[in-house]
Parts: sequence; structure tokens; C-alpha cells
Amino acid sequence: MNSIVAFKEIALRDQPLAPHTWMKIGGPAQYLIRPRNVDELLDVVRACHEEQIPVRILGGGSNVLVRDEGVSGAVLQLIDESFGQVAIEGTTVRTGAGALLSQLISQTVKAELAGLETLSGIPGTVGGALRGNAGGRAGDIGQFVESVTVINVKGEISTRKGDDLWFGYRESNVDELVILEGSLKLQPGDSEEITRRMRKLWIMKKATQPLSFQSAGCIFKNPRGLSAGALIEQAGLKGIRVGEAEISDRHANFIVTNPGAKSDDVLRLIDLTRSKVSEQFGVDLELEIKIW
Ligand SMILES: Cc1cc2nc3c(=O)[nH]c(=O)nc-3n(C[C@H](O)[C@H](O)[C@H](O)COP(=O)(O)OP(=O)(O)OC[C@H]3O[C@@H](n4cnc5c(N)ncnc54)[C@H](O)[C@@H]3O)c2cc1C
Repeated sequence: MNSIVAFKEIALRDQPLAPHTWMKIGGPAQYLIRPRNVDELLDVVRACHEEQIPVRILGGGSNVLVRDEGVSGAVLQLIDESFGQVAIEGTTVRTGAGALLSQLISQTVKAELAGLETLSGIPGTVGGALRGNAGGRAGDIGQFVESVTVINVKGEISTRKGDDLWFGYRESNVDELVILEGSLKLQPGDSEEITRRMRKLWIMKKATQPLSFQSAGCIFKNPRGLSAGALIEQAGLKGIRVGEAEISDRHANFIVTNPGAKSDDVLRLIDLTRSKVSEQFGVDLELEIKIW
């Protein structure tokens, strides 16, 4: 069994995580590890398990807020190209979890396969999308999933499919430590038609969300039958600022950060929003973003 110190070629100590997240804030990881292939990934996971080192997987960092004090243990990134391979056979698409969702979408559109265009404009990797069942009004990734290959905390690899998989609103039961790859079933379609649909969705997204600011997407899940953004707006919080973090005046369920922002500013703004919305409407907002 390898010890974590055996991975010095791929394990960086005390590495800032901020540059790897969309919010661009937060502290360092004790170890930032980038395995070069699946075997090395399995070795790292097993070594961490053996030494009781906590492990987290960072995808595109578009749904994560890292606390200012950083993260103890290991943060793994699947950025080697071997984790991002996409293979299309007929209407079945096998994709590595490290592939960018945007790249997967363009490859499937080029192959005249319809379905994933509904996810256009969602940042991040396939792994992050599968974990949180990324999607929107037009659909989510879970509806196309046939199987998912995962690695558990002990470093055991397995494939889950059919009834063993469940995808709900911004959540799934694919909760093993690592999502390695997914197999998706799409529909044949006309690429011009798909591109048109994709463009329409992208324009709508751009018009309603602050895509060019530093943000982590929607902060809260929509409570059943309600819109978190509308509740926050009705509570008079649009544009409210704590330190260098503010509630977007374009979409009240987004927090955007200005230069110099601290994660603590965002956390205080989240607390303020939750308590105001609870006071005024009796609704407890649940977080969509993951706080590390
Ligand atoms: C501007 C903007 C717009 C957005 N719009 C949408 C939207 O319309 N719909 C939507 O659903 N989301 C949206 N999001 C949120 C975000 O893009 C999605 O949640 C995305 O799927 C996260 O993917 P990621 O790779 O960035 O994951 P990360 O943020 O890196 O991680 C998110 C979670 O997934 C886990 N994870 C990531 N990769 C793996 C893996 N390989 N194995 C195991 N666990 C893993 C992480 O540990 C973490 O718990 C938006 C975000 C931004 C910044």
C-alpha cells in the first residue's frame, strides 16, 4: 500500500483552490492531487483511505464555495485528458467524468444527437453534472443516463445502472467518492434544429443570469412550487451587499463577488438571506451550492 507521500509527483501541498473555482475565493487544500490515469487514481484513493485522509473531488468548481480557512485532506482533480474522453457509438455516448459538459454537448450535437442541448450554458464537468443532476426547466442530465462508473472510498470500482440510479431535482444517489464515467442514451436529431434550440436556451440564460461575473450559479434550491430567486427579491434583498459579496441584481438567487471578497462575506450573505426569507415567508431555503 502506497503512502500519500509516495505521490509527490502529482500531489501539491497547501495549494490555493480559489483559482479552480468560479467564485475565485477561499483557502488552500492541504493536498491538491491530479492523478494521471485510473490506476494512479485508485492508488491515491486507497492510500488516503488507509491513512484516513479525507478526500474530495473538485470538478469545474462551478458549484463549490471553499471556506477561507481552506480544506484539510486531499482534493482530487480529474484533469488529465484520460478522464475526459468521449466515445459515441450510435445513440450511446460514453463520457469521462472529467470532460467539460460544454465539450460533451458540442460533440453530441456534431454527431446529430439530441437531448444534451437542453443543458447548454451550464458550466463544469460531466462528473459535477452527474453528481448534482445538472439541468434546468428544459430537462436534466439524469434523464439520459444509462449507467455510471464509480469508485468508492476504499478504492473499489463498480458500475451502477437501471433501478440502482436515481436522479432528482439538483441531486442524485450517485454519492460514491468518485464518478469516473457515464454512459448516456440520446436521440437522433437534426444538428441545425438542435443548434437552434441550443442558441435559444443560451440567449435566455444569458439574459437572466449574471454569467460574466464571479458566481457559483444558483445559491439555493427552489422550494417546491416556488422560486428561490423570487422569494429573495420579494424580501427586498436584490443588490444587498456584505463585504465584497452581493446578491446579483440580475438574478436574486445568484451571489456575485467583487475583487477582495472573502468566503466569509458570502457565508454571511447566505445567512442573512435565509433568515430574511424565513422571517417574511416562513420558507427555509436549502443550499444548492456545496460549502467546503
Ligand atoms: C454561471 C453559472 C450558471 C449555472 N447554471 C446552472 C444551471 O442552469 N443548472 C444547474 O444544474 N447548475 C448550474 N450551475 C451550477 C453548476 O454549473 C453545476 O452544478 C455543475 O454541474 C457543477 O459541475 P462542476 O464540475 O463545476 O462541479 P464542482 O462545482 O467542482 O463540484 C460540485 C459537486 O460535485 C462533486 N463532483 C464533481 N466532480 C465529481 C466527480 N468526478 N466525482 C464525484 N463527485 C464530483 C464535487 O465533489 C461537489 O460536491 C451554474 C453555475 C454557474 C457558475
